[in-house]
Amino acid sequence: MSAEDYAVTPHPQAATAEERAGLMAAPVFGEVFTDHVARATWTPDAGWSNRRIEPFADLSLHPGATVLHYGQQVFEGLKAYRWSDGSIRLFRPEANAARMAASAVRLSLPPVSEEDFLASIEALVRVDQEWVPDKGEASLYLRPLLIGTEPSLAVRPSRQVEYMLLACPVGSYFSGGVKPVSIWVAQGFHRAGAGGTGQAKTAGNYAASMQPQQQAQDHGCDQVLFLDARDDRYIEELGGMNVFAVRRDGSVWTPRITGTILEGVTRDSVIELLRASGREVVERDIALDELRAGIEDGSVVEAFACGTAAVVTPIARLVSPDFDVLVGDGGSGAVTSWLRETLTDIQYGRADDALGWMRRVL
Ligand SMILES: *Cc1c(COP(=O)(O)O)cnc(C)c1O
Repeated sequence: MSAEDYAVTPHPQAATAEERAGLMAAPVFGEVFTDHVARATWTPDAGWSNRRIEPFADLSLHPGATVLHYGQQVFEGLKAYRWSDGSIRLFRPEANAARMAASAVRLSLPPVSEEDFLASIEALVRVDQEWVPDKGEASLYLRPLLIGTEPSLAVRPSRQVEYMLLACPVGSYFSGGVKPVSIWVAQGFHRAGAGGTGQAKTAGNYAASMQPQQQAQDHGCDQVLFLDARDDRYIEELGGMNVFAVRRDGSVWTPRITGTILEGVTRDSVIELLRASGREVVERDIALDELRAGIEDGSVVEAFACGTAAVVTPIARLVSPDFDVLVGDGGSGAVTSWLRETLTDIQYGRADDALGWMRRVL
């Protein structure tokens, strides 16, 4: 499998250079799409076939398609970065490929092989290479997804599945510089329970996070923090980002992977960078009470959230009906800032890629 296996149908009315420049000047996250989409179709008989690059267009989908009724869907999110030498690179795409395959298994969808996943990205990025931004901390956000498309209301795994890869040029998540966020502790809501789909990147988890996210906003906070569903006591993650706490003794804590937390590629990279720099990273259960007490008595000096879209984001405040505490001085701490810089320096080729994370696509 390689990019050549994706048959290209060029867009008959692709954006002109001028139109593209206008669209890419200040794109709203996820609202500007490139000219093409990569697709492949799966059936039990043929397996994955009909790999193609098509003009970006509305879908034709049977109203009875499985995804519309039973939510049989998984997705991924990663970015392509343009280096100053003009080359285009991906950050640890093999990790996204592995996670998408694992998510697919959980949702009874046919996994896409790593080889095929990477080939689809290479094929699309080649065709839409002009859409990869070359300024500042902009990038091309890649959104692979799988959906069940069989026209049937029967509750069983779809016998027809579509793989699609969309791409969006995006600016820096924080256009006016990094802005620390305030976090609301979810009240009466949980993101995932044991044996559920918390470890899979699937649409339903996001649908279920919107009401608690609204609750956070109603309390003047930016993001919601979920506690575990069993004890309602241990911190898990935000709706779409993992969390860390930096302690005064230099160690860094993050919730351990339990099956209900989405294992972020950024989370894993942060852990590796910290360990490579000689810091102790502890993956453990972290009770909300313990975190709050640590923030109050100064043994926790920084907290941050991390994910592909916003990279590393300082957490300024932790809020619930019972308390409202400021982390450190409410700004970005030294470890948080260092991680953000180190990660983005690797991604944009400004620092040596000692851990071998970047993969050249063009
Ligand atoms: C995607 C996601 C993350 C972050 O994963 P990255 O691979 O770092 O982008 C964290 N939590 C949830 C729930 C997610 O969906």
